Amino acid sequence: MSNDQCLFCLIVSGDIPATVIHEDETTLAFMDISPATRGHCLVVPKNHAADIVEADPADVAACATVAQALADRALVNLGADGVAVTSFCRPAAGQTVFHLHFHVIPRYEGDGLVLPWIPTQGDSEDIAQAAKELTR
Ligand code: AMP
Ligand code: ZN
Repeated sequence: MSNDQCLFCLIVSGDIPATVIHEDETTLAFMDISPATRGHCLVVPKNHAADIVEADPADVAACATVAQALADRALVNLGADGVAVTSFCRPAAGQTVFHLHFHVIPRYEGDGLVLPWIPTQGDSEDIAQAAKELTR
């Protein structure tokens, strides 16, 4: 299940080079070519799926487990103060490579990286309504 038009499938197959830091039967993890911070890496399933919604849940779970281990290594081995683990789904969320990937982004006090939103006071009625829509 690979797509020869897909950048990350070509990394999985070894046709495009990457700095691989973990490989198992289901997943590959490699360094991001444009790191947000020192140690920024990506975890992908070997099976092609465009995003977290399209992917087999077992592949999502396998990637999450690897991301957990890499987050721990970022704290212990790189001395990060925190770690952001995230996956963007669809262009509206900022996705640019359409093969599921989890970013594991070590965070360092004062690294200057900003969240993609500015927290503001929520509307409690709309929060409750959105919760209903998410649970039906
Ligand atoms: P996203 O915007 O969530 O789809 O993230 C795509 C990520 O892939 C970005 O952080 C890019 O820097 C990264 N990226 C793109 N091409 C490569 C590559 N050849 N090797 C490693 N990372 C890459
Ligand atoms: Zn792919």
